[in-house]
Amino acid sequence: MPDHPHHAVRTPFVAGNWKLNLDRQGAVQLAAAVREHCEGAGLGVDVDLFPPAFYLDEVVRTCAGSPLLVGGQNCCEEASGAFTGETSAAMLADVGASEVLIGHSERRHVYGERDETLHAKVLQALDAGLAVMLCIGETIAEREAVQTEEVCGRQLSSALAGIAPERLTRLSIAYEPVWAIGTGLTASPDQAQAVHAYVRGLYAGLVGEDGAAAVRILYGGSVKPDNARDLLSQPDIDGALVGGASLKPELFLPIIDAGKS
Ligand code: PEP
Repeated sequence: MPDHPHHAVRTPFVAGNWKLNLDRQGAVQLAAAVREHCEGAGLGVDVDLFPPAFYLDEVVRTCAGSPLLVGGQNCCEEASGAFTGETSAAMLADVGASEVLIGHSERRHVYGERDETLHAKVLQALDAGLAVMLCIGETIAEREAVQTEEVCGRQLSSALAGIAPERLTRLSIAYEPVWAIGTGLTASPDQAQAVHAYVRGLYAGLVGEDGAAAVRILYGGSVKPDNARDLLSQPDIDGALVGGASLKPELFLPIIDAGKS
């Protein structure tokens, strides 16, 4: 039996997480530069931008009518009410976001978001009709303690607990080892591939083989133009979630092109 019978059906996916960067004009200019690059026919790569929530509306308008998708970096675990400073999944959808990042390592480790909270956020996002990019990954201490699989498995299964597989058809997973995010350290293609294959197997246990063959698992953590192609050529690495390098067209556009098979 071939190892990866459905690999060809997974369109490569490159996403840019802008975090807490840029101003209004810089956000629009960056989106316009990515748009121009992606409008050529037959790009064959899905591209998603995650601007700061405050600029979503304007970035959505900049990307309207293009193949680009735009998403939020986070959403509240509640639908509405007395939650000062929060943004609901429905609000993201209302201004034209089609996706949301859930469980980014900075949400887990800087803001202390726990697995139960992230599960509630996934439910909110699905209820609002958003696609979810679920981020998972181990810290350096967990890797050194040989707990990578256990940690990623717990993060994946707790975020998706009890959710019917039919609701997860627009889910993607981003494996982002915490020690590689914003540090310049990258998992080697072999290290990343091993975790991706493990996660896909685990996901098969949650949703079945077909869902696992179709789900796109992105790698994130110091992806740059010079390492993107080696990472993306791994059989279970279906794309890249890019932080720092997504802020500069001269770095992000070559990463998009590295997704072309
Ligand atoms: C990220 O924010 O998801 C990320 C991977 O950041 P960086 O590319 O800067 O490591």
